[in-house]
Amino acid sequence: MRKAGSFDKAVSALRIERCYQCGKCSAGCPMGSVMDAPPHRIMQWVGRGAIDRAVNAESIWLCVSCQTCTARCPQTVDTAGIMDEVRALAWREGVCSPAMVRTKLFLEAFLDSVRRHGRLNETELIAKYKIRGFLSDYKMALLLKDSMLAPRLIKRGKFRLFGGKSGDRDVIKRIFDKCEKVAAAEANDKTPKEAHHG
Ligand code: SF4
Ligand code: SF4
Repeated sequence: MRKAGSFDKAVSALRIERCYQCGKCSAGCPMGSVMDAPPHRIMQWVGRGAIDRAVNAESIWLCVSCQTCTARCPQTVDTAGIMDEVRALAWREGVCSPAMVRTKLFLEAFLDSVRRHGRLNETELIAKYKIRGFLSDYKMALLLKDSMLAPRLIKRGKFRLFGGKSGDRDVIKRIFDKCEKVAAAEANDKTPKEAHHG
């Protein structure tokens, strides 16, 4: 069972209790038409403590963090920030709507690649995403999808087969390390400052 802690503090700081369900966030959301639960519904679930419903929604993986919902909210609820918090909680708990497993795998492969190289290595991203995706559902069609596009993209200079490395890899590594510390602190229901002081 999930205990109350850093998640509750975070969404409270983002003013979840001020939401009065006007729906303006959902009306402006560019991804609303493909979401299973629009942002105002996620806010409703979070506001009344139905966190399991929120973390299992497809919407949290479809949100593109454009901030439109936050900008439109008449109650200054940081709706986009709360969507981020719900997604982060789902990530920490390893929860994902079955329809969004591949989306999550793509995000993981993307972050792995940036962490390792300091920038995106497209070949590695595609290889990891396709292999992990195939191992998750054994769908051969998705494994081969778009493979014929590669030669054309390479020819037009749109795809770097061997990728590259950033000169600032140490900076990128420090960013990832810091984020992991914050995530670990949140998982232990501590503030990052509390975690730092043991
Ligand atoms: S716009 Fe703000 S107040 Fe209205 S439903 Fe969305 S979060 Fe709640
Ligand atoms: S931040 Fe996410 S939920 Fe908010 S409007 Fe953009 S896509 Fe929709």
